[in-house]
Amino acid sequence: MKKLRSLWLLLIVPVVVGVVIDRFTKIDLIGAVWVGLRWVGHLFVVSFTLPVWGIILLMLVLPAILALLEFVLARRQPDESYEDYTSDTFFGISWHWRYCRGRLVDDVTARCPRCSGLLDSHEWGYSLTLTCDHCGFEKSFNNMDSLTLRERVRKEIDRKLVTGEYKSVVRRDDPA
Ligand SMILES: [Zn+2]
Repeated sequence: MKKLRSLWLLLIVPVVVGVVIDRFTKIDLIGAVWVGLRWVGHLFVVSFTLPVWGIILLMLVLPAILALLEFVLARRQPDESYEDYTSDTFFGISWHWRYCRGRLVDDVTARCPRCSGLLDSHEWGYSLTLTCDHCGFEKSFNNMDSLTLRERVRKEIDRKLVTGEYKSVVRRDDPA
């Protein structure tokens, strides 16, 4: 009788254990599926959140970048050519100058229109004469001193820069 109960137990225990394991396995499976779904859902949340932020960022940044690029290119084009404008002839004299940080420097240099030699200034009262030691060129101005002449030259340079007339001078002086 005792042996029979042991045999019965031997039969019932694996079944119970199997059912329990099966139960646990099923619960685990559901849990695993749930965790998996949550993980996938999380993936979706993440993958949708990032592009939205990316799109918003692009929408904000891209037009700004394009506008900046356009602005820089639009500014750079005339800037480059106006800084090439460093000499011109005014009042029969060849004038040369430089730019510092995009601005015309105060000093403009008078050169001989024939030989490009530096001209000397001679002032007598309100009469000004510019002479070239190299070739003997001479040019006189009445009712004009050196400062006034240079100021008028600077004004002419400024006028040509503003009107864009300088471009034809740059093109003419360009050896290419
Ligand atoms: Zn000369």
